[in-house]
Amino acid sequence: MERKFPRKIKRVVIKVGSSLLATHMMKPHERSLKSLVAQICDLQDRGFEVVFVSSGAIALGLGEMGERVRPSDTPSLQAAAAVGQALLMRLYGDLFKKRGRVCAQILLTWDDFDSKLRHSNACNTLQKLLTRGVVPIINENDSISTEEIKFGDNDKLSAMVAAMVHADLLIMLSDVDGLYKKEGGKLTEKFSEVREITDEIRSVAGGARDHNFSKGGMVTKVNAVEIASRAAVPCIIANGQTMDVIRRIVVDKESLGTYFFEKEERLIAHKHWICFFAKPKGFVTVDDGAAKAILKGDASLLLPGIVAWGGKFTPGDAVVVQDQAGVELARGIADYAKEHLDEVSDRKAKKPFIHIDNLVVTA
Ligand code: GLU
Repeated sequence: MERKFPRKIKRVVIKVGSSLLATHMMKPHERSLKSLVAQICDLQDRGFEVVFVSSGAIALGLGEMGERVRPSDTPSLQAAAAVGQALLMRLYGDLFKKRGRVCAQILLTWDDFDSKLRHSNACNTLQKLLTRGVVPIINENDSISTEEIKFGDNDKLSAMVAAMVHADLLIMLSDVDGLYKKEGGKLTEKFSEVREITDEIRSVAGGARDHNFSKGGMVTKVNAVEIASRAAVPCIIANGQTMDVIRRIVVDKESLGTYFFEKEERLIAHKHWICFFAKPKGFVTVDDGAAKAILKGDASLLLPGIVAWGGKFTPGDAVVVQDQAGVELARGIADYAKEHLDEVSDRKAKKPFIHIDNLVVTA
């Protein structure tokens, strides 16, 4: 049966996992790379715009340096990424060139999304590349990323990119066919489509996989879907080893993989940025009255509702709002610095600490 998308697809983000790009010996998977490039060029020929999010730097870097096992320390992984990213781009550059195309490399960290200026610079660059018919190839800037500025996995990165470029579809390709139901610990039937990420979906997604090649697994994919779908980007998780998978999904609209609907009630861009892109610099704990008002979604958070706080924030920084049990209720942009809250007299003033326009309920 033909799959129905919510709107005509023009701009597609395609994310490919390391398991498709590197062999077990951590050498380039040439057939797979060739096929991906051919499929991307085919989409371009048909008038689609493609943003490509490619993993594989660490795996290929390790292979290039003659390693067999993924090390656990960060500097070794970062060194491998530096080697592998260059190799990866050389391979893509040659393959695209053979087809008369040009590709470009963009390496991002979470900081680039946290800063509105860098976010908009990245956005402008991507836009320009797409209008010039160049294929942007994006990866995390692993060689300089530390825990604080890391996405952690390219699934999340691809969702943030899809939201940033207002993609019409995000396709995450790996070596699994999609999301499967689990019965008695066994994978049974594949979900052809998922309308909403419920607790059941989260539980079948299971724990993260962290193998020789990459981080991630189903759980990081489902988290990524959540980010993309709140930005009105529908997602498909499919097997990249399936013949002509990209064309069959995008052009023939075949029901391959698992299709995740976009959220009907999408967050406007500014609130999406607060919720998913801005890194919280601290937290405030609120009393029960304020918690109720926030969850109702129609009130600002006023200073007197705050009972505790932590972290280091200044006006304009994102903060997490939590209840007295420490459960996250919302995220928002602080109007006052942490030091202001330390002054009791200031805290009693009935002024908004987070204005309703800058407050997003996440509970
Ligand atoms: N950025 C990493 C790489 O290129 C991959 C991260 C992931 O597997 O999600 O090797």
